[in-house]
Amino acid sequence: MDIKLYNTFSRTIETFKPQKAGRVSMYQCGPTVYDTPHIGNYRTFVMDDLIRRVFEYNGYEVDQVMNVTDVDDKTIRRSREEGTPLHELTSRYEKLFVSGLEALEILPPKHLLRATENIGAMVELISDLLAKGAAYKADDGVYMDISKVAGYGQLAHIDSGRISKERISNDEYDKENAHDFALWKFKTDEGSDAVWEAPFGAGRPGWHIECSAMSMKALGPTLDLHTGGMDLIFPHHTNEIAQSETATGKPFANYWMHGGFMTIKEEKMAKSKNNFLKLEDLESERISPLAFRYWLLTAHYRSPIDFTLEAVKSAQNALIRLMSVIGIQPEGGKAIQAYKDRFLGFVNDDLNTPKAVALTWELLKDGSQPDADKRATILDFDRVFGLRLASGPRFHASPADIPAEITALAEAREEARRTKDWKKADALRSEIESRGFRISDKPKGYSLEPA
Ligand code: AMP
Ligand code: ZN
Repeated sequence: MDIKLYNTFSRTIETFKPQKAGRVSMYQCGPTVYDTPHIGNYRTFVMDDLIRRVFEYNGYEVDQVMNVTDVDDKTIRRSREEGTPLHELTSRYEKLFVSGLEALEILPPKHLLRATENIGAMVELISDLLAKGAAYKADDGVYMDISKVAGYGQLAHIDSGRISKERISNDEYDKENAHDFALWKFKTDEGSDAVWEAPFGAGRPGWHIECSAMSMKALGPTLDLHTGGMDLIFPHHTNEIAQSETATGKPFANYWMHGGFMTIKEEKMAKSKNNFLKLEDLESERISPLAFRYWLLTAHYRSPIDFTLEAVKSAQNALIRLMSVIGIQPEGGKAIQAYKDRFLGFVNDDLNTPKAVALTWELLKDGSQPDADKRATILDFDRVFGLRLASGPRFHASPADIPAEITALAEAREEARRTKDWKKADALRSEIESRGFRISDKPKGYSLEPA
């Protein structure tokens, strides 16, 4: 079956056609590792994971590359503020980022490329752009001359009236106007751990060149698919296209997919606005990362999703109900083809996960299907959902007897046990008992009953 995707470049839904049959080369902009990501950032990484899983569900091999921005304005600023060497700071936050991926059941990208380990490719690309006359040297760095770029700004629909001659060295400049931007920033007194030698002068790369150089080094001049959050369309992705296409003369990416924002009180969640939550904030509200993931699945990836605690809590209750039902269904069934077909139709329709989730509940209510087959079908869907539904029957009691908040505590304890956090697991057991319930561990999960 065809996979249909909304391509930001054409602003239309298109049928996906890979360059090589059965393979997808996919590049996603990864985190800037100067702090722990907020849950809005993770929304975009869950989207990337869903895209990969949908391709894999369709039988594709996905060459998925994610970068780690471990040198840029923000990482350098934070390392100076803290007095921590750059590498120490970024590896700390990279580890925290990766533990978030694991908690959210995001499959590890096949290649995780750090900017600082690929400086050579960036220097080469900049040298090429200088040789082609599309870049020039100024006092403080090497800049891309956007007036030399044919069709600059098509991805973001930037018209020529918004192209300014002013130079910008900051990586994240105003969203209204396009400027010549820094490919390389010459050495300053920022600190010596962010300086590399280059034929055009010692310094460090700009953010945009990092992604152009690493994506093409790993995947070749033309990617099948490039993804990121909507805020990256301009200037970041626009500038990646300018750099890459000027250097190679080939299209940089055949498809561009951008995820919608997570908002809070209808405003974009952002570090700069100080209106963000982290995964650990959800955990202190007893919301498991997988419940958060389930909640994300219930919205279309391009729509904004507005965070409220109530919404995520009700998603958690739904997930617990789903796990409980599957937990008591017999094993050994066969996935039901008619449901699989409908599921594929939904996920291949530009990742319509809300419909795929609704189909799951429809199947559970379908009296004409045997329970074992329902279970097999839903576990098959879980190859895309990534809700760890196959981790076995964790819940050995009729969920109707147990209040949802007690089950939530038990699920949090199960999660703590899985990660071997015994102290937390014990504290949760005491809390469950203090609320009048008994929890006992079973070979594949636990049971709950009133004490
Ligand atoms: P950063 O670490 O700031 O480079 O961001 C990592 C990813 O998170 C990028 O793809 C951004 O587009 C994305 N992102 C940032 N804020 C949000 C948000 N509020 N909702 C969804 N994605 C976001
Ligand atoms: Zn990028």
